[in-house]
Amino acid sequence: MPLSIAFDNSYARLPPRFYERVRPEAAPSPGLLVLNTTLADELGLDAEALASPEGVAVLSGTSVPAGADPMALAYAGHQFGHFVPALGDGRAVLLGEVTARNGRRLDLQLKGSGRTVFSRRGDGKAAVGPVLREYLVSEAMAAFGIPTTRSLAAVATGETVLRERPLPGAVLTRVASSHVRVGTFQYFAHRSDEDGVRRLADYVIDRLYPEIAGADAPYAALFASIVQRQARLVALWLSVGFVHGVMNTDNMAISGETIDYGPCAFLDAYDPSMVLSSIDRQGRYAYSRQPQIAQWNLARLGECLLPLLSEDRDQAVKIVVERLSGFAGDFEAAYFGRFLEKLGIADERPGDRELVTGLLAVMQMGRADFTLAFRRLADIIAPEADTEAFLSLFGANAGVEPWLAAWRARLAAGNRSPAEAASAMRATNPAIIPRNHQVEKALDAIVEGSDGSAYVRLLQAVTHPFDDRPEDVDLGRPPRAEERVAATFCGT
Ligand code: AMP
Ligand code: MG
Repeated sequence: MPLSIAFDNSYARLPPRFYERVRPEAAPSPGLLVLNTTLADELGLDAEALASPEGVAVLSGTSVPAGADPMALAYAGHQFGHFVPALGDGRAVLLGEVTARNGRRLDLQLKGSGRTVFSRRGDGKAAVGPVLREYLVSEAMAAFGIPTTRSLAAVATGETVLRERPLPGAVLTRVASSHVRVGTFQYFAHRSDEDGVRRLADYVIDRLYPEIAGADAPYAALFASIVQRQARLVALWLSVGFVHGVMNTDNMAISGETIDYGPCAFLDAYDPSMVLSSIDRQGRYAYSRQPQIAQWNLARLGECLLPLLSEDRDQAVKIVVERLSGFAGDFEAAYFGRFLEKLGIADERPGDRELVTGLLAVMQMGRADFTLAFRRLADIIAPEADTEAFLSLFGANAGVEPWLAAWRARLAAGNRSPAEAASAMRATNPAIIPRNHQVEKALDAIVEGSDGSAYVRLLQAVTHPFDDRPEDVDLGRPPRAEERVAATFCGT
């Protein structure tokens, strides 16, 4: 079957100042690295056609399919706290929008397909390593049930890109509910383009928040809904030990999806002060600072929306401050909701939150592996269960036994049987996460040795993270001291 994609491009119906039309660059020798056949099917796309030479030409930017309207989106952003008035898609091109089988409108974007008007000094390209890293981590996040952009395909271009050293080039096909970011609002607000801000807000309501279209004060409702989704998203990140790494305002999607997987990673040992990005020298984007940073970014969004909220500036500021102050409550509700699920508790009672904070405190003290500590709890609900595998995760003197006794007593007093609690916990606490040392090892094997087998195996495991698969126990283990990867590096 020839490749056919039913595009309908709503962003192209916005005024021309929202984007720049651009043709992706042809790849000299495109070759498919990985294709997400499940996602292709959800999008109503024929996987075989995508994998054919014609499909790979499209996925590499070499040919532009009928109905596409390729463009680079304009946006601004605060990067590590400093405002940059014009960023934009410097190495990404929105091909257009498709409607998934479930009715959702989704962007198809090529990342790494060459220069655009927003490229500044960059080459518009991406290297195989970061492309395959984003593919794997975003698909793992989706498998955890965390809102995220998705990855449809990764294609090698056959071209060499120059970073610290020459590296093989690649293009990622990213799928998103929309690529509108906090920084997109900032782009227009900074230019005092109130009409642009309003059109963007209307677009976002129509596409991402249709439930508030008829509200009395739609822009205030929009801001409140964005705050709520963002609070929930960050709570979900923390629940799997995820550190985004570059929570700049241009990397925060208005949809509430995780976007822009650069130097991100997951905690091994529980350490809330963990910073994973080599370029984050101040620890601005540490694991435990993510809620605070999300709220800071949302304050920047609120500033952009002021003219839409009220003609009276003080009144508008009041609305933003009031909605923003809801962040902490939304975050805590989502955070404790998810962490209590991780403990097998479905009906919150007074005192339960202390069980969460109590466990995290002993985990931190004992440098316990975050993922395994939660995963192994499901095996030791019964008082007679063998706790060796769990206790061995904690250093000496961590004092986890009193906590364990309190937690068991709480579960026994609850309305779930131990078997019910255990199976709910095994569906919430992943056995396998994309551990940094495994990801790096798998990527190295491809870049240095042209051997994709470790990557394929890791991808399979992290996209089925709740399965206990004896053949994959090594992938579930924390790194030994000599395997630990101290920092991750930006994808650029
Ligand atoms: P990021 O760090 O991926 O969030 O990107 C920040 C900004 O830099 C965005 O405007 C990107 O489009 C731009 N950028 C990143 N890498 C490149 C590149 N290789 N070529 C051109 N622009 C880039
Ligand atoms: Mg970005």
